[in-house]
Amino acid sequence: MKNIRNLAILLFITLIFSFVAGCQSSTEGEASAEENEQQPILIQGPMPIEAENFAAKLEDVEEETSGNFVFYKGKVDDYPVIVMKTGKGMENTAAATAIAIEKFNPASIINQGTSGGHDPDLHVFDIVLGERTVNIGSLKTGHREDGEGIAPKEWIPMDLMASEGSAGEDPDAENIRYFEGDKELLKAAKAVKDTHEEGKVVEGTIGSADVWNNEVDRIQWFHENFGTSVEEMEGAAGAQIAKAYDVPYLGIRTLSNNKTNGGEYNPNTAEANQEYVYEVVKEYISNRK
Ligand code: SAH
Repeated sequence: MKNIRNLAILLFITLIFSFVAGCQSSTEGEASAEENEQQPILIQGPMPIEAENFAAKLEDVEEETSGNFVFYKGKVDDYPVIVMKTGKGMENTAAATAIAIEKFNPASIINQGTSGGHDPDLHVFDIVLGERTVNIGSLKTGHREDGEGIAPKEWIPMDLMASEGSAGEDPDAENIRYFEGDKELLKAAKAVKDTHEEGKVVEGTIGSADVWNNEVDRIQWFHENFGTSVEEMEGAAGAQIAKAYDVPYLGIRTLSNNKTNGGEYNPNTAEANQEYVYEVVKEYISNRK
């Protein structure tokens, strides 16, 4: 009889323990779902003037470095946002993007900064939202023999992602590869266009390469053949890596100069662009919540 009573008590205690454990694991489950929703938004800027204004707006900032890359980890409206100073150019941007994706598992990436105009209707302080981004250094030259000279206008686009075979021989690789800007990021950016008072905000095509083009005929050639609105040195590199990991991505570039209409270089555009991107991020966060 006593044994049966002891057994009943033991059973009761075991039941209570398993109930408490069950409750705990379900609160843990909820916490990790919440953490998942809180994947950070990454904001990339190449030069100090293109990243530090935004970094200064973050709450609870912690700084972390990896190689040359600086990550300012903080919050906007209680949501995690990481500003990254990537350094200039395609290689820095590609490496920094891959490292940041591996380290921080971001919800999305905005690549922003200055650019040079390819469209004569755009002026210094205007902003281009990258509906598309394209690598304008990815080109194949025509066939010319010794002494036949060079003919850049005959160069054709080369898509390095067309196949794993030779891009030089594969006719399928003779196409322009556009990376599409993410729809949700674009929606947030369009919703706050009016907050940018120094110029207009338009949708367009961002071209990138480790080249600064000052030949107006060459700029026009890109504008006509690739549809570029602006050029810079980072966007397509980040877009390519974001696509490899399937992370939503958008380029947002202000014109700091425009050779096609006499627009002189103005570094103050970098700060105005970050002010606008800050508004975009707040809008995007409120949509996510
Ligand atoms: N004029 C600046 C040079 C900046 S280097 C200076 O002397 O300090 C190039 C950086 O500016 C890159 O990060 C690139 O993305 C951006 N950029 C702005 N205008 C550009 C243009 N017309 N062509 C290429 N990159 C441009």
